[in-house]
Formats: sequence, C-alpha cells, structure tokens
Amino acid sequence: MSRTMQAAFVEQFGQPLAFREVAIPTPGPGQILVKTEACGVCHTDLHAAHGDWPVKPTLPFIPGHEGIGLVAAIGAGVRAVKEGDRVGVPWLFSACGHCEYCLSAWETVCDEAQFGGYTQNGGFAQYILADPNYVAHIPAGLSALDAAPITCAGVTTYKGIKETGARPGEWLLVSGVGGLGHLAVQYAKAMGLQVCALDIDDAKLAHATQLGAEAEVNARSADAVAEVKKITGGGAHGVLITAPSLGAFKQGVAMTRKRGTCVLLGLPAGEFPFPLFDVVLNCITVRGSLVGTRQDMAEALAFAADGKVKAVIETQPLSAINQVLDRLQRGDVAARVVLDFASV
Ligand code: NAD
Ligand code: ZN
Ligand code: ZN
Repeated sequence: MSRTMQAAFVEQFGQPLAFREVAIPTPGPGQILVKTEACGVCHTDLHAAHGDWPVKPTLPFIPGHEGIGLVAAIGAGVRAVKEGDRVGVPWLFSACGHCEYCLSAWETVCDEAQFGGYTQNGGFAQYILADPNYVAHIPAGLSALDAAPITCAGVTTYKGIKETGARPGEWLLVSGVGGLGHLAVQYAKAMGLQVCALDIDDAKLAHATQLGAEAEVNARSADAVAEVKKITGGGAHGVLITAPSLGAFKQGVAMTRKRGTCVLLGLPAGEFPFPLFDVVLNCITVRGSLVGTRQDMAEALAFAADGKVKAVIETQPLSAINQVLDRLQRGDVAARVVLDFASV
C-alpha cells in the first residue's frame, strides 16, 4: 500500500482548503486506521473552516465527520472492531468513558470529548485515525455513500426529534430542510409524526413535501408564524431548528405550541435574542441538542438499513471540496453532498 494519502486541510480560517499529500498515520495502541470510502459534507464543516465558533480548532486540521470506511489496520489492544469492518468516524470521536455524563449515556457532553474533523483530523482524507470504542458500526446492506449522512445529519435530527418529546400524531415543525432537515422529515414520518417544513428556499420546501411533509411554509413570508399556527392548530408540539440562521431561532420559538418543546440544532455564529416573554407565558421548553450518543447512532442507522429513511445524495470527488463548500454557503446544495473516494 502507498505510504502517503491525499487530504484537504484548513490551514487558515476563511481560506479555501489546501490539498496535501501526507504520510498515512499509523494507529497507536487502542487506535484504528480507517480507509475512507465516503464522507458527507456538513454545514458544520463550513463553520469549522470559517472559525465561526467560540472554541476554534487548532490549525491546520482535516475537517469531515461523516466519514465511512473499512478498518485497514488496528493498534495494540483493540477488540471492539476488526480489520475489514465498515465503520463511521463521527463528530463524537471519543469521550472519557467514566465521568458522570459518560456513565449516564450522555457521552456527547463529556468534558473530555474529542470531535472528529474539529479537534481530531476527519474524513476529508483517504485515511482516518479513529477510536474503535466510538466509531459507528455500519449495518450490512447499507452502502458507505448512503450511510455517510446518517452518521451526523441523521443521528442529530433523530435524537433532536426524540428530545422534542413529540408523540405519534402530533406536529413537528422542521425549520431548515437541507442536509439535516431532509432527513428530519423522513425520521419524523417514520416515527408517526405530522411534519410541517419551513425554509427560505421553495425548492427545498418542494423536496420536503416529496419526502412526506404534510405542509410547507416559506420562512420569509410575512405571516409565516400565523400560517404555521393555523396548520398545526396552535403551534407545533415539537420544533426542530436546523437552519444556520439566527432569525430562524426566534421564529421557531414563536411557532412552538404552548407547553411544546423547541430543540435547537443549528449553530450559526452569534447570539440569539431569547424571546423570554413568549417562552414564559406559553410554558415552552427550549433545549439544545448535540449529535447523538452511540445508542442513538445505532438506532438512526437501523432506520436507514430498514429503508425507512434514505439520504438524498450528490456525489463529488475530494478534489471538488472547495466548490462544494462554496455551494453549501450559498444554499446551492439540494440535500447532502457525499465525497466518493472511489474517485479522488
Ligand atoms: P444545510 O446548509 O444543508 O441546510 C440548511 C438549510 O437551512 C437550507 O435548506 C437553508 O435554505 C435553510 N435556511 C437558511 N436560513 C433559513 C431560515 N432563516 N429559515 C429557515 N430555513 C433556513 O446545513 P446542514 O448541514 O443541514 O446544517 C445546518 C446547521 O446545523 C448548521 O449550523 C450546522 O453546523 C448545524 N449542525 C448541528 C448539529 C448538532 O449536533 N447540533 C449537527 C450537525 C449540524
Ligand atoms: Zn455534521
Ligand atoms: Zn466522560
């Protein structure tokens, strides 16, 4: 096997990624090496490359946290996977395993958690080093390309829907029906919810309806809040905000039914003015949610393996990553782009 690999690095925030031929890493004790087959491109990769968030990754780094591949080598002491297994290297790259959060199956908020494609090199590379205790196990029958978006967009929205507490027959409003949202619509339908899609892009809304949403509302329409309240008979029981736009947060809270729950997933830079009066008077719960635990991941992948959800993907080679990120920035990606490493 060749000793070097192609990888795309963020070297400076806000600059195009740089392609480098670098040594293939060697897995140390307790680590594995994954040969990348596919890696989805998440809007989070754009935030990472722009240095949008208060805690920034150390430069240079390789983004990508929807990487899927085959275990190519294992370090000493690894028992959780074996060579040839198909795994995903997700945002939750590793955690300590023994703090109060890890012990209560909330490893996503472990203080020592590492993040794939952020604090650890990710999947925009031909090989990825991973922690075998935190990789996703891809079910047989699910291709690498189809699995990739499930390992972030899928698990994040699946967990987010659970966090709304909305029950079968109730309304879920999905604000932002792009990479995350187009999967949210499908998970919600599979979970027996009624879905109202909200976006600023009519093509994305039409897509959400094709995927099973009962109603669609353009977020830019002057009476969007009133429309959603009318459709849902007083506001959605659960609201899921995936839109990477601050305006969507205040609007989403206003669309939440009394005693309903608004789950925040999108992470645009900046702060969101909290509509205290509406939240208190309507007894609304507003909660953040971050990807999902390993158990959520297994469940989210099972929906995909059972054919209940299917990511809508466009494939591109790694060499096109800068054009893909520019398009994502402009809102010019229909659902999810997945880098296909069969052609680098
Ligand atoms: P995307 O670019 O694929 O989709 C975003 C969608 O939001 C697009 O359809 C866009 O038209 C729509 N949109 C933009 N402004 C809007 C508005 N004001 N109202 C309604 N819709 C609007 O992005 P994505 O990959 O789905 O990621 C979305 C966000 O979720 C990003 O901020 C990303 O960082 C975040 N994210 C969070 C988690 C988490 O664990 N919480 C996980 C993954 C991604
Ligand atoms: Zn992501
Ligand atoms: Zn921990």
